[in-house]
Amino acid sequence: MNVLVVYWHPEPKSFNGAMFRRSVEALEAAGHDVKTSDLHSMNFDPVSGRHNFNTTNDGEFFKQQLEEMYASEHHGFVPEIEAEIQKLEWCDLVIFQFPLWWFGMPAALKGWVERVFVMGRVYGGGRFYEHGVFKGKKAMLSITTGGPEELYVKGGWNGDLDAILRPIHRGVFEFTGFSVLEPHKVFGPARKTEQERIYELDNYALRLQTIFEESAIEVGEY
Ligand SMILES: Cc1cc2nc3c(=O)[nH]c(=O)nc-3n(C[C@H](O)[C@H](O)[C@H](O)COP(=O)(O)OP(=O)(O)OC[C@H]3O[C@@H](n4cnc5c(N)ncnc54)[C@H](O)[C@@H]3O)c2cc1C
Repeated sequence: MNVLVVYWHPEPKSFNGAMFRRSVEALEAAGHDVKTSDLHSMNFDPVSGRHNFNTTNDGEFFKQQLEEMYASEHHGFVPEIEAEIQKLEWCDLVIFQFPLWWFGMPAALKGWVERVFVMGRVYGGGRFYEHGVFKGKKAMLSITTGGPEELYVKGGWNGDLDAILRPIHRGVFEFTGFSVLEPHKVFGPARKTEQERIYELDNYALRLQTIFEESAIEVGEY
């Protein structure tokens, strides 16, 4: 199967960096074809604008979704965006690897979504949710937190982590047709011992060996 791993962390030696490299290794060892978007190494520009396009639909008033629809019909995406859209179209499973920042994706990854999930190619024209463009594909978040697990439960300081992740699960993945797999969570890697972190990496690699056997989760409404 084809797997795309989209990853951002500003430090390659970080625990996220280790998870990213381990995931690629494990998926390839399981016989999958893997492509990556290592946004930090790519120096990916997360800010959207006219520079997303080679084409112009309206030169007077910039409305991104209309430009995206026009570009979808006229091969109008600049190569850095076209390449990322093609990776999404190619994959059977996409994994986002990132540290939870302010209860969400870091800006670089959020910006990747804002520039790459384009109207016309990725959604639109009635193709949403169960009729989404990427129906049949799977998506998974692999995240780390600063806080420990007990803070991320209903009634805890931070609340249920699955509720925090809902905007991505429902608003990005399911919106475009992906089925959502159970997110992979490592709570507070910096608080763990070296042995515990090694266990977490092994545990993730083990899970990835059979990732395509997993069923989609129900994304709750909370
Ligand atoms: C702007 C900002 C916003 C944030 N918002 C939130 C938030 O909303 N909620 C929250 O909970 N947290 C938040 N945090 C904290 C953040 O989520 C955590 O710091 C992050 O998830 C930890 O992951 P890391 O990859 O950065 O860990 P690191 O600190 O890079 O790694 C932890 C340890 O693992 C070690 N390591 C690396 N590779 C390996 C390996 N192969 N084997 C064993 N050990 C290894 C590293 O050397 C290090 O000692 C925020 C942080 C920032 C900067």
